[in-house]
Amino acid sequence: MQEGDIKDLLQSQDQFFKSSSKTSVTERISILKKLKSSIKAHEKDIVEAVYKDFQKPEFEVLTSELFVAYKEINLFIKKIKNWSKPKSVSSAWLNFPSSDKIYHVPWGKILVIAPWNYPFQLAITPVIGAIACGNTVVLKPSEHAPYTADILEKIISEVFEAQQAKVIQGAVETAKLLLEQKWDYVFFTGSVPVGRIVSQQIAKHMTPHTLELGGKNPCIVDASANLDVAAKRICWGKFLNAGQTCIAPDYLLINADIKAEFQEKLISTLKAFYADGTFTDYARLIHEDHYERLTGLLKGQNIIYGGDSEPETNFLEPTLVDSPDFSSTLMEEEIFGPILPVYAYSSFDELETTINTFDKPLSLYVFSERKDFIKRVNESFDFGGGVINDTIVHFVNDKLPFGGVGASGLGNYHGKASFETFTRKKSIVKRKTWLDIPIKYPPYTHVDSFKSFMNLFR
Ligand code: NAD
Repeated sequence: MQEGDIKDLLQSQDQFFKSSSKTSVTERISILKKLKSSIKAHEKDIVEAVYKDFQKPEFEVLTSELFVAYKEINLFIKKIKNWSKPKSVSSAWLNFPSSDKIYHVPWGKILVIAPWNYPFQLAITPVIGAIACGNTVVLKPSEHAPYTADILEKIISEVFEAQQAKVIQGAVETAKLLLEQKWDYVFFTGSVPVGRIVSQQIAKHMTPHTLELGGKNPCIVDASANLDVAAKRICWGKFLNAGQTCIAPDYLLINADIKAEFQEKLISTLKAFYADGTFTDYARLIHEDHYERLTGLLKGQNIIYGGDSEPETNFLEPTLVDSPDFSSTLMEEEIFGPILPVYAYSSFDELETTINTFDKPLSLYVFSERKDFIKRVNESFDFGGGVINDTIVHFVNDKLPFGGVGASGLGNYHGKASFETFTRKKSIVKRKTWLDIPIKYPPYTHVDSFKSFMNLFR
């Protein structure tokens, strides 16, 4: 799309936004129902598209792409009317007589930029929230999941007029062109370096925004943990989507007393998960560059399990690496693939030193049966969100706002948190006219009496 066409589109979205009849709550509910029907009608196409993009198994598409989207639509259909009601608050008695209300109003035109790793869900979930709240949307899906981008475009164009929601496909140049425009809100999901660029680019319009980014998520295994359950839950959360999950554990910190035992459990779990050796229930890496980057990270490392790879299919086996040097590239950046470094720790100080080496993570996981240990971990580290005795499952509860902190993100969404993200609060005081106390008007003849009044506050 050329810049002129984008400008025309945004003008039409502006007009659409201003016509309140088209964005009434009732209209929004009916359009959400239409969106749900269209997703349902295209379920098979979505499963096929995500498979073509990176061989993501059907079960993972159903659970982590489609189910999440249906849940979000259903929630908004059920709640949006109630959430959107203006909220009366008590008046300030300095304004007596008045009635005061907070209105939840949409921002206007929203740009959603999505990544490739959950290519359907991470694109459609913010669109659902934005539309439900009465905004218009332009969605730019990732160029690295082109089949899913096509089906997203098909669904959005079937359900919405372009004035309300439109997919614009393209790579970095298209994203840059879109970011040049004046938006009322930008919702970006992607890597930390690109998040930084996005923030800088939209600063010129001072556009409010959400950044859903990544980072190095620690996973701590205390000696008291249920090791059998921990091994399964860690391998599942790490190797789902072939490790290409923003909240996957990035590295393991295992109590030194149980490290050898736990390592064996991780290995036997992986053997059981992918017993037939065909890795049909396992996604592939998204593209050749990602394959080259990840296999490159393994060079010179002490691989204790896995490590097999196949460039023709961008396959990299679930891989465990023992204690890589903290200055190695493997530990300098977010891994974002099926490589799990495992370390031993001997004291809480050591845990603190290691975790605090990195920016504040998106997630942190701790496996332990000791309440005091769990409490200390929770109080010692700052992170977006986390789970005790499991990995990544905080994502599925739409009552929990999802997002990072510091370098791992800004703002949050999902469920009610999406409502709060995609609306802003407009505060209105409605004064009555039957009483007009003159004290505030010049000439100021009541200075002394106001001083006495202020004594109540001093
Ligand atoms: P990415 O940052 O490379 O790309 C994300 C989107 O930004 C794509 O649509 C891409 O076209 C666009 N983009 C790329 N370069 C750009 C530029 N210079 N200016 C403007 N836009 C640009 O990320 P990715 O590789 O698609 O996804 C992986 C990253 O996303 C990981 O770091 C992961 O942790 C993070 N992520 C975070 C979440 C979350 O919810 N916090 C979810 C998924 C992925």
